[in-house]
Amino acid sequence: MPVLREIEVCKIDEEFRVCPACGYDYGFHTSFLKVDASKKSPVKSTREVFKVILICPECGARYDVGWRVSFTGSEPGVVRTTGHQVSTV
Ligand SMILES: [Zn+2]
Repeated sequence: MPVLREIEVCKIDEEFRVCPACGYDYGFHTSFLKVDASKKSPVKSTREVFKVILICPECGARYDVGWRVSFTGSEPGVVRTTGHQVSTV
């Protein structure tokens, strides 16, 4: 396994399928990274918010394309996107 790299924030134009780092073009793995509550955030929330991180299966590069999700305790399995609320972390 490659060593985890720094997460690169990037914007999606039309499609985000090809890894900018190595050219792998079959899409990405995903992972959820908890947004650090101690950091300054424009939105005060009691819900836990996670970044959706895309990971290149080939080279391990990680990308943050701005997805933010939270999981509610009362509705297991339901995912709400909050990307419009938390744009900078
Ligand atoms: Zn790659």
